[in-house]
Amino acid sequence: MLRIAIQSKGRLNEDSTALLQELGINIDDAKRKFLSQSANFPLEVLYLRDDDIPQVVAAGTASLGIVGLNEVEEKGLKVRIVEKLGFGGCRISLAIPKAAPYDGPQWFEGKRIATSYPNILKRFLDEKGVKASIEFITGSVEVAPAAGIADAIFDIVSSGGTLVSNGLKEVERVFESEAVLISNDNLSEEEEKLLAEMMFRFESVKVSRGKKYILMNIPRASVEEAIRILPAMRSPTVLPLAAEGWCSLHSVVNASDLWEKIRQLKAIGAEGILVLGVDKIIP
Ligand code: ATP
Ligand code: MG
Repeated sequence: MLRIAIQSKGRLNEDSTALLQELGINIDDAKRKFLSQSANFPLEVLYLRDDDIPQVVAAGTASLGIVGLNEVEEKGLKVRIVEKLGFGGCRISLAIPKAAPYDGPQWFEGKRIATSYPNILKRFLDEKGVKASIEFITGSVEVAPAAGIADAIFDIVSSGGTLVSNGLKEVERVFESEAVLISNDNLSEEEEKLLAEMMFRFESVKVSRGKKYILMNIPRASVEEAIRILPAMRSPTVLPLAAEGWCSLHSVVNASDLWEKIRQLKAIGAEGILVLGVDKIIP
């Protein structure tokens, strides 16, 4: 039995739950408790505050955890980073009052910086040879300068909107983060096997993300050209149609290229184009 710690509520909760679902691991969210067991995979889910996840995984209370890389880095505990998960993206940045002229990290010499990430900040300041006073606060760090508690802040930024509305500007991007799957350093053989099964499933989820299945009717004479436009995993599937001189062509394309591909295919005579979502790709 594997135990995974995920955030109980907050920004990572929904994507973490959705990821387990995508891996085919059903957790009954309606009957959710502090600890819930999956009905179809030997996994139980422990719901925690994100701050506590690196610690319970390092201690082995949970074998796995889903948490922001920022929390892992800040806590500095010994855990294995198994996989970056592609959600919860953000950065931790230094920000100063909008009107202040900025000339590089030396600006912070002798200043007070409010943050919930003192360790990551200290490492950055040491690296730059800057001595500043770190004011540890949890909660609304961005109001610290206006409240006179600090001269600057070191905080999580995703769009930057919160900074602007507090009269601040981002001057140093120090740490890039996203949600990661972490594991305890000493998994049992059985736990390693279950983790490998989860990672096998995750690979197929990753491959299928952002992919579309496209099928269309195309004149036989245009098939060669269509294959050049649509390089599929091996090659597109071409099936003859009952109508003389026509084929049905099937392929998988990146969603980001979809409209450009459709334009090119229409130009060589494709008709009846159908686009479907891709659930899983097992290479
Ligand atoms: P908890 O109650 O679990 O301690 P929290 O308030 O500390 O929750 P959230 O705001 O839910 O944390 O953020 C969780 C994680 O989401 C962050 O540690 C970070 O990795 C990621 N994240 C992504 N974008 C943002 C953002 N704009 N602001 C804050 N965190 C973000
Ligand atoms: Mg937290």
